[in-house]
Amino acid sequence: MGQRAVGIDLGTTFSAIAQVNKYGVPEILANVEGARITPSVILFDGDDIIVGSYAQQAALAYPDRVVERVKRFIGDPDYRFEIDSRSYTPEQLSSLILARLKYDAEQVLGHRVDHAVITVPAYFTDRQRRATKEAGELAGFNVLKLISEPTAAAFAYGLAHASGQRKLLVFDLGGGTFDVSIAEIKKGEITVLATAGDSRLGGTDWDEVLMRFAAEKFKARHGVNPLDDALAAHDLREKCVSAKLALSRRPRVDLFFDHQGRALRLEISRERFDELATGLMVRCEALTQRVLDDAGLRPEDVDTVLLAGGATRMPMIRGLIEEIFHRSAATDINPDECVSLGAALTAALESARLSGTEPPVDLRTHDVTSHALGMATLSEKLLHNSVIIGRNSRIPCERTRDDFTTSYDGQTCMDLWLVQGEEEDPLKCEVLGHFEFYGIPPRSAGETRLSVTYRYNPSGIVEVEAMDLLSGQVLAHRIATEEITLQAVAARRVPMQIALIIDCSGSMYGENIRQARKAANTFIARTLAEGRKISIIAFPGGLKSSPTADTDRLDEALKALMPIGSTPMHHGLQLARQALRPHVGSQRVYVVLTDGHPDDPAATSAEAHRMKRTGGRVITVGVGRHVQREFLEGLSTRPEDYHHCDESFELEGTFVNLATQLNQA
Ligand code: ADP
Ligand code: MG
Repeated sequence: MGQRAVGIDLGTTFSAIAQVNKYGVPEILANVEGARITPSVILFDGDDIIVGSYAQQAALAYPDRVVERVKRFIGDPDYRFEIDSRSYTPEQLSSLILARLKYDAEQVLGHRVDHAVITVPAYFTDRQRRATKEAGELAGFNVLKLISEPTAAAFAYGLAHASGQRKLLVFDLGGGTFDVSIAEIKKGEITVLATAGDSRLGGTDWDEVLMRFAAEKFKARHGVNPLDDALAAHDLREKCVSAKLALSRRPRVDLFFDHQGRALRLEISRERFDELATGLMVRCEALTQRVLDDAGLRPEDVDTVLLAGGATRMPMIRGLIEEIFHRSAATDINPDECVSLGAALTAALESARLSGTEPPVDLRTHDVTSHALGMATLSEKLLHNSVIIGRNSRIPCERTRDDFTTSYDGQTCMDLWLVQGEEEDPLKCEVLGHFEFYGIPPRSAGETRLSVTYRYNPSGIVEVEAMDLLSGQVLAHRIATEEITLQAVAARRVPMQIALIIDCSGSMYGENIRQARKAANTFIARTLAEGRKISIIAFPGGLKSSPTADTDRLDEALKALMPIGSTPMHHGLQLARQALRPHVGSQRVYVVLTDGHPDDPAATSAEAHRMKRTGGRVITVGVGRHVQREFLEGLSTRPEDYHHCDESFELEGTFVNLATQLNQA
């Protein structure tokens, strides 16, 4: 890593890039227009993609060709920006901003810039952090690390004030996010003690307060709501942002706005603005108080209040700080630049560490997690969130729990739902993902012992690892993409795929098949639930329905059963095995219904053996006098999984019992 890495503050409204110079001092790298910050705005102009102030100006003329505030959507799997029949994810959009910063930095420095540290709001979740890292990679960076914005600000400040010991509170209010962190500077170390935030609060909300106020006035006077028109709304937003900025310098401003030939002139005073923003200020104050409580500090224990983020220039924010802390905030640091400067310092330290060279500065930072990491567990039929790593734990950190086991015979995979948050009900937390571990050797329920290690890596990203303690093997895992939701598990515990494998040999003709259909219908009605699917296979006859939750389709499939021919049970089992996909994190159940003996017992046993070996459960139901009871018991997972009916009218009762059993599984 010959070249020096850069630090990037990827902001909701503005971004900045910086690097530590050869004297060990972090410096902003101005963009090609000479500006020290670049608007995080993207214009899609035909084949050209333009990022920065030109895009911001163009937004007035072409609001639907411009993307702004994309950071508010980062990590949202459903957000797409559609333009010119192309579709962009928030990560792709963010990467365009990062690519512009990279290009400009390379122009200024005269060489390539490949390695970067990117800042994220302290309150960003795992998902948002992963997405930010991905955006960096899409832009062509090797992302050395992600660090929290307030921690970066503390770092930049700490460089100048490293001697002595002090407690620092960073109040970071940007365009779209708000974080508060408390850090301690001591002997060349900056240790974050507590942090909290709101990723939906920022200067933009103050703009919107003014927009709503002006729109109401306009509507009252002219009977038209300008917010109903995209172009007018955009224009009004610009006017309100200007008014807000002016109110940071002057006690009152005039806002002029016209729309459809009708004009509005509105005088706004600071007092009026304060009043309109009361709700937002309450949120700022509550969060500050919470962080103080988490750190176990009173306001007077804080030695320095550091402001980061452009929105802290509002006098009402300075007023709030004075009200809480009875002192004014530190003024010797630029709130627009301190985050990227801190990122540059971190980048320099990281590259020195990776290349084994002397660190350029004699200062370290230690960050904490802003969210608890929990696991959804089920006990007494209720979902609980068991917190594994608490909020405000120092990162990196890891915890191992070794009290996991399997819940059914032959189980080869295990699911974990990880959540971020402390709520008792995991559905109220952010579900991070459904991790699926597979390759557990099949054993009896409860015999297997598994350990799971949870980790926050240095970038605050969650990593998980599971081990089979009996074999000492680390289990492979993936983030499951199937539609099995935590809600489904909560409703019916184990998600399930069931194959009904039905004998359609000639002997089933008549009453037997009628009763079998009726039993199957009742069974379907009782077992189908969210997260469950049923497939129907006939032997002979083949696949009648692939796994589905559509009862009409299943009904059609049952109607299509046509008894004729011999008993190729092995073929039915083979098709069933192919129909149910393994490793989908759901239990697989094969129910075989027959009134006779298979054409090829050896092949049938072999198929059943394969099902069981890969964690499937085999249940057999025999009807009438010609069934080979012992053979069917042998096919089943356990001898109790064979059910006998002397007469076909008993089938329905048997299937009702089966459904009940599976629902309690
Ligand atoms: P981000 O990093 O989230 O883009 P910034 O730290 O750049 O945020 O802050 C941008 C926000 O600060 C915007 O909402 C902007 O309007 C606001 N802002 C910048 N300067 C001022 C000012 N002088 N008075 C009030 N708000 C300001
Ligand atoms: Mg910022």
